[in-house]
Amino acid sequence: MFCKNCGKEIDNNVVSCPYCNEYITPVNNQTNPPDSGSIGWGFLGCCIPLAGLVLYLTWKDTKPLCAKKAGIGAAIGFVAYILISIILFIFMVYFIAATGYYYY
Ligand SMILES: [Zn+2]
Repeated sequence: MFCKNCGKEIDNNVVSCPYCNEYITPVNNQTNPPDSGSIGWGFLGCCIPLAGLVLYLTWKDTKPLCAKKAGIGAAIGFVAYILISIILFIFMVYFIAATGYYYY
């Protein structure tokens, strides 16, 4: 791209022109953040499966990498939630059986 102030050719990624220090207005990527596919979305989906699912459905067309991470995270989080529920249930049944409370 070219600086709109002095007309010199400058790098697309610079914030200000190295020749005249004119502030360069970003031309793209401002409304459409890069599809980084950050693992952070996976963790978010894992902690909050519903949020991960929503993000997956929102991003699956525009940001497939992020969507995939969020979707996988949501799946893991959902499975973990089911497993924890089952373990807690078994533990509770054993606890009740051990105390004999269940039979009264
Ligand atoms: Zn310039």
